[in-house]
Amino acid sequence: MSDSRASASGTAIQVPFNRPTLTGDEFGYMQQAVEQARLSGNGEFTRRCTDWLEAATGCRAALLTHSGTGALELAALLSGVGLGDEVIMPSFTFVSTASAFALRGAVPVFVDVREDTLNLDVERVREAIGPRTRAIATVDYGGVSSDVAELTDLADEHGLMLVEDAAQALGATYRGAPVGSMAPLAALSFHDTKNVTCGEGGALLVNDEELIERAEILQEKGTNRQQFFRGQVDKYTWVDLGSSFVPSELSAAFLLAQLEASAAVNAQRRDIWRRYHEGLADAEARGTLRRPVVPPDREPNGHLYYILLPPDVDRGAFIERAGAQGVACVFHYVPLDQSPAGSRYGRVGGPLHVTHDVADRLVRLPLWAGMEDAQVDQVIDVVGRAL
Ligand SMILES: *Cc1c(COP(=O)(O)O)cnc(C)c1O
Repeated sequence: MSDSRASASGTAIQVPFNRPTLTGDEFGYMQQAVEQARLSGNGEFTRRCTDWLEAATGCRAALLTHSGTGALELAALLSGVGLGDEVIMPSFTFVSTASAFALRGAVPVFVDVREDTLNLDVERVREAIGPRTRAIATVDYGGVSSDVAELTDLADEHGLMLVEDAAQALGATYRGAPVGSMAPLAALSFHDTKNVTCGEGGALLVNDEELIERAEILQEKGTNRQQFFRGQVDKYTWVDLGSSFVPSELSAAFLLAQLEASAAVNAQRRDIWRRYHEGLADAEARGTLRRPVVPPDREPNGHLYYILLPPDVDRGAFIERAGAQGVACVFHYVPLDQSPAGSRYGRVGGPLHVTHDVADRLVRLPLWAGMEDAQVDQVIDVVGRAL
């Protein structure tokens, strides 16, 4: 479902779906990391990345991880869920939102998303809360924040942990506050396909003061290594059940260059997003597609632009027609409740009409920083003709 170099019909792709953006500073920082001759994790470059993340998002503490999936697994460990506990989440999301909790023996309970943002529907969450519910996992689809304030209230009311899968949303805001500053735990991804990347990487943002110390321990194999290096304990030993979630300094060095350029990268992506949005307004008015809906109280980070095709349009054929004209479009999630592992480890927690409807009709358009205006116009033109 990622970038493809040629369409199904063999035509050369002129507008690939995704391309990681290089800022030019990556190799310089990596060279410095090599010269420092200390490549394992939690060193100087990691600290510079976490300082940047704490300043940019306003979170209490940021911890780098080897992936967004790792950040979610660390969040699941910290949330304390165990065998038979239930975690309410959307079915319309990436695998890792669910697998992180299923690995702890907890049961993902899938509920529907809102028709406008495709983010968790707070009312559906409320209806699905039962005696075994321990946590809510919300996803900020496409870099548009979910209803974090309402979900925080709901979680507090029922004594549940709220975990925000903000893998796609670094740089987005909600009611003026940066994504990652609100939920007790928020996970970021720096995978190749995200706005900011180091190939494979992630971060856990912690806002609950009481979880910070344990987060540091679980991230370092369940040891008190960090406290030992700060001189807070005199022995470095195994104190809790964790794993190795840390990325190497090489990854952190690459990531630092990306973080420092991320405001500019996000601005470019938002610009392309807006050009699509304006360019496809007429098509929406004619009823040939639906554009994304962004509530006025949140600013997206330009992570992705999608369209919803009318129910009678064959999506596979549409993607093939676009590919034949040089434009790589891709679909997105298979709803987790319809996946083999999702039905084995999770359960449905209410009607999933919106999820099943949009998952079949959604098409993502090419979007990366550095796309030329002519390429954006080509996509808009090809989409119009392919319908
Ligand atoms: C990308 C993504 C992840 C996983 O991140 P990785 O860094 O690839 O492990 C998890 N959840 C969502 C919503 C994502 O988009």
